[in-house]
Amino acid sequence: MDSLLDRFCRYVKVETTAVEETENYPSCPGVLELGRMLADEMRALKLEAVSQDEAGIVMGTIPGNVAGAPTIAWLAHQDTSPEASGKDVKPNIIRNYDGKDITLPGDSSKVIRVADTPELAGLKGRTLITSDGTTLLGADDKAGIAVIMTVAAHLMAHPEIPHGPIRVVFTSDEEVGRGVDKVDIKKINATCAYTLDGSGSGELENETFSADLATVTLTGYNIHPGLATGRMINAIRLAGEFISRMPWQRLAPETTAGRDGFLHPYVIEGGVPEVKIRILLRSFVTAELAQQAEILKQVAATVLAEHPKARIDVDVKRQYRNMKDHLEKEPRAVALAAAAMKAVGIEPKYASIRGGTDGSRLSEMGLPTPNLATGMHNFHSVLEFACLEEMESSVTVLIELAQLWGKEKP
Ligand SMILES: [Zn+2]
Repeated sequence: MDSLLDRFCRYVKVETTAVEETENYPSCPGVLELGRMLADEMRALKLEAVSQDEAGIVMGTIPGNVAGAPTIAWLAHQDTSPEASGKDVKPNIIRNYDGKDITLPGDSSKVIRVADTPELAGLKGRTLITSDGTTLLGADDKAGIAVIMTVAAHLMAHPEIPHGPIRVVFTSDEEVGRGVDKVDIKKINATCAYTLDGSGSGELENETFSADLATVTLTGYNIHPGLATGRMINAIRLAGEFISRMPWQRLAPETTAGRDGFLHPYVIEGGVPEVKIRILLRSFVTAELAQQAEILKQVAATVLAEHPKARIDVDVKRQYRNMKDHLEKEPRAVALAAAAMKAVGIEPKYASIRGGTDGSRLSEMGLPTPNLATGMHNFHSVLEFACLEEMESSVTVLIELAQLWGKEKP
């Protein structure tokens, strides 16, 4: 499967770093360049209905060759994380990895250490791909794109493999939280979808947090400090009291793990007259979000009891919901992915993400979308790397998955 490695190296060389502070979509022009390359390759492979829209989203269809099978979709995102540079990525291929620390060739201070990266122990003898240490690699999510394109090429070249129609979708701006803003699930028109945006091998992410966002506005009263006696109400002081009374010992990201939810103040801005605090509400149990909002209202009440002339508003907005709630409506989405892994000798590792994925929003919009492994590691960092054999096993899983769906009825 050398073409998988060729494809991967070709895609990571296009700079597609997502940009947070812009109204543009895609946020980075490189996405349009990569998308043109992908659309051309899809046309050359004879995929049907190949398109690239002005948002940079690329779609195409691997036509089915069995009657009546449901349509499924495979998704990956073209943009890369803004947390490290994605310009002039130089893939560094390490064959027959010796199991030791990896010093990156372009910056000897950048070392992928075995002690910090437990999964390296299991990858001795494999082919690893790193950057040169001056950029990220971009395996997140070009490993997913390379896997999907390799499977598309394989299925188009092997019409004897029975499967239904498969929609290939490459999105943008996932890394800045806008990954499904421009995705039209009616146009995808599939029974279920899979994001190829997971790490390692065998990972099957079928659960995410449910999420709300609270904006707490504390309103004080400002006056010259010389005249302030008995009159000034300092919103900064109110905010300090508010945050110190939140139950962080049992309900914060830095003090919880596993299946615990949390309240996370992550932005504070303002001055004496007014302060706004933005707080993430997170739980795997959607009903607990209402209890978390109630905690914030109670904290507000205790602060107000001591500062009766102040005002505190707690405004809660819905963000996304646990993918699991929606995946239950189409149980085949996870069941057939697990069956495909087992059929090629991989034990599925079910994972719950202490965050959200594009799949959580797509699932909520009505397209059940679990997330599958693609062999990427240490993403969002110059220490990012990918394992070729894990990417290859994702290819074999997708080929199996296509056939399992080919035996289903809508
Ligand atoms: Zn990703």
